[in-house]
Amino acid sequence: MKAHIVGGGFGGLAAAAYLIRNAGASGQDITIYEADRQMGGGFFLGGSAESGYNLPGSVFDSEFRCTFDLLQAIPSTSDPAVSVKDEFFTFNARHLFHDRAHIMDRNGRVMHSPHFGLSLRDGFDLVRLALTPEARLDGRRIEEFFSSRFFATEFWLLWSTIMGSLPQHSATEFRRYMNRALALFPDLSDMTHILRTPFNQYQTFIEPLVAWLRPRGVNFLAGAFVQDIGFAPSPDRITANRLDYEQDGAATSVAVGPDDLVLVTLGSQAENLSVGSMTEAPPPQCSGRSSALWKRLAQGRSGFGKPDVFFGPVQVPTSRWVTFTVTTTGTEFIDQLSALTGSEPGIGGLVTLKDSGWLLSLTIFHQPEVIDQPPGTHLWWGYGLYPERNGDFVPKRMDACTGAEILEEVLRQLKFDRQLDTIMASSICIPCDIPYVNNIWMPRNRTDRPPVVPVGATNFGLIGQYVEVPQDIAFTIEYSARTAWEAIHVLLKCGPAPPPVYQGQYDPKALFGALKVFLCQ
Ligand SMILES: Cc1cc2nc3c(=O)[nH]c(=O)nc-3n(C[C@H](O)[C@H](O)[C@H](O)COP(=O)(O)OP(=O)(O)OC[C@H]3O[C@@H](n4cnc5c(N)ncnc54)[C@H](O)[C@@H]3O)c2cc1C
Repeated sequence: MKAHIVGGGFGGLAAAAYLIRNAGASGQDITIYEADRQMGGGFFLGGSAESGYNLPGSVFDSEFRCTFDLLQAIPSTSDPAVSVKDEFFTFNARHLFHDRAHIMDRNGRVMHSPHFGLSLRDGFDLVRLALTPEARLDGRRIEEFFSSRFFATEFWLLWSTIMGSLPQHSATEFRRYMNRALALFPDLSDMTHILRTPFNQYQTFIEPLVAWLRPRGVNFLAGAFVQDIGFAPSPDRITANRLDYEQDGAATSVAVGPDDLVLVTLGSQAENLSVGSMTEAPPPQCSGRSSALWKRLAQGRSGFGKPDVFFGPVQVPTSRWVTFTVTTTGTEFIDQLSALTGSEPGIGGLVTLKDSGWLLSLTIFHQPEVIDQPPGTHLWWGYGLYPERNGDFVPKRMDACTGAEILEEVLRQLKFDRQLDTIMASSICIPCDIPYVNNIWMPRNRTDRPPVVPVGATNFGLIGQYVEVPQDIAFTIEYSARTAWEAIHVLLKCGPAPPPVYQGQYDPKALFGALKVFLCQ
């Protein structure tokens, strides 16, 4: 059997590893086609200490069951004697978040309200949504279930800045988040049960997986864009027989046998991602390459979902984030923010400036965030949940701003005007426009995402965040890992089934903790 995996993000890499581990495949029979020059997809690491790093922020919990099942056998980059899983949990046990100032107002006051500001009516509305079956939530938005005051509560600000949800987003996905993340509910404010990677996600997860797969013979084709998959003619079976890809301007067609396997990653949250600099805003990108194959496969075929629900210009205003990574050789910003929040650098979690037009959230990483980060260099990160609004001090949309303009807006929001020049002089702020990052939250119907194995498929599976997996939440590598495991289990009929998705509503401890928020906090 030859296995062809389209997409070298976490999902595609996990698929290769599960094929070897669960199905006894030989690495030499596995090819990963990745359109980008680098593996990793949404888990990227760009730039350098000199030019300024660019990387994503980090939110995990302990219930990434498929992910950690896999990573317990993968040696970590920083210490190959330790598995990635052990490295992750040891780090988090030693460096628990203790966020003392998550939501801050314009005057630097921390918002802490009894019951996170939730009224009994809000509690009732949350329970009502949690009890509504998904079959009755098709196309519905979160805002249809709550009063407008709910969206000004501390709870909503905490939830939306950690999970990314907006009022106009999918009620189905929000319901799933409530059940999947119920155990996080009592500690949302100080984030003690929210975990992060010891280093950036690329070096923590992607590098070790690639380093494990490569010596096993897995063939990595970087810069290889898969344009089409051919299928054998059949009225009721879907059997891939051809894969066409383009690499460095050359087109190649690969024959696929009925006993071979093709797994396609549908889309990427990082589609059309664009990176700017201190002096340049991120230039708009429109290649649309990560969703192009999905659009092609879905054309004229039922059962392949609706890519346009997630990838189209109409989604961008509710799916865009602009993130920024600041590399600094000074300590002024870190000292000032730590003094303002009362949190030690590296354990403070997120600080959300609730009155800022862009709805800015910031975090100081535990240092070093990059394995070879030079001593004396510090990294911090932030993002805007409403980047299409104007800033309050820089009257521009965030996605049109240079790194210097974003940094200035942040510093003025924090009233660090006196330190502004010193901080600007010692910092490089790299803006990153990610127009589709939040599209997994778009309101959807149950058939908008295709199943992992389309009806009638014999050697063809779909993986990643735009495939339907009951109960799970899509803004996670766990989701993609689960699709990969499931596809291999169903199509090759070997190895164990993936473990069940954690569901807090059936966990007495999580239920009791959530109840306490209403009765005691
Ligand atoms: C800013 C940001 C922060 C995030 N934070 C977290 C977090 O804290 N925790 C968490 O769990 N998740 C987080 N995520 C989500 C995480 O990145 C995704 O869950 C994960 O990357 C999904 O893996 P994937 O392989 O399904 O897709 P991707 O990582 O998006 O990879 C898909 C890959 O497939 C390639 N591809 C698609 N079509 C083709 C084709 N036709 N030919 C060749 N290649 C193709 C794309 O180029 C892409 O590289 C974050 C994402 C972003 C962008």
